[in-house]
Amino acid sequence: MRCIENIRELTEVLKNNKKSSGIGFVPTMGYLHEGHLSLVKKAREENDLVVMSIYVNPTQFGPGEDFDRYPRDLKRDRALAEEAGVDILFLPRTEEIYAGTTSVTLHVTEGVDVMCGKRRPGHFDGVVTILTKLFHIVQPDSVYMGLKDAQQVAVVERLVNDYFFPVTIVRVPTMRESDGLAKSSRNVYLSPKEREEAPVLQHSLQLARKAIQEGADSSEEVMLLVRETIESGTSGIIDYIEVLSYPGLCPVEEWDGEIIVALAVQYERARLIDNMIITVSKEDKHV
Ligand code: AMP
Repeated sequence: MRCIENIRELTEVLKNNKKSSGIGFVPTMGYLHEGHLSLVKKAREENDLVVMSIYVNPTQFGPGEDFDRYPRDLKRDRALAEEAGVDILFLPRTEEIYAGTTSVTLHVTEGVDVMCGKRRPGHFDGVVTILTKLFHIVQPDSVYMGLKDAQQVAVVERLVNDYFFPVTIVRVPTMRESDGLAKSSRNVYLSPKEREEAPVLQHSLQLARKAIQEGADSSEEVMLLVRETIESGTSGIIDYIEVLSYPGLCPVEEWDGEIIVALAVQYERARLIDNMIITVSKEDKHV
């Protein structure tokens, strides 16, 4: 595995390495866990060359968020990336990556008035900004993204479609701990008690799925069920619970197609998100 910090060097290496079945790209913020590695595994299966980036992107963090204390361990990340089969690990430097961002800015206008977009103003502007830069630098054929961050996937799919980026976004299912907690770099900031309670997030989503499949009357009923389950199982404070169409992220008018039940819970030192995407058929139920 080759580690590269410099954009020009990366461009040169990629130019000389491009092979028939293309470049698979896995953008991350590091502190790697099995969720990230599942993206690499899929990229490895489908591409000749696998590029991973590790960059804690400052522009997607708001004031007072956890940019400064976002967990970092590059030495460990390098070993895990290499073991998982990454060919090139790109470690951009802020001085270079943001050197030219003065005259044109990217602003997401749809799909961000809900879920994390609503609670974290500007977050997705930062996400599309860094990904636009990385996509232009790496020029991947396929980009592997986790459905753990389902709103991010939906927003990036729109970016790619609206601006004709010649890349395919590959959606990868959420990897979980054996007790159901979604793997996340931020899980290390849970206290032992919070960690013990946190699987209730996934449990509440399973109950939501069951309720929808069994004919719940409305989104409100499902959201209430999720709220009551979480409140009775953990001290974490609910940031949001939403039931929306996916990937449109619009209010659900009838149970049809892909529905996302999404939530965020704030713990003492970590904000956790999770979601479940459920496919329902119009013939079965009505809201
Ligand atoms: P991050 O480092 O948190 O920005 O995540 C980098 C990529 O890994 C994103 O596409 C995430 O959606 C994905 N990811 C994070 N956690 C998981 C998980 N538990 N399962 C699958 N993918 C994940």
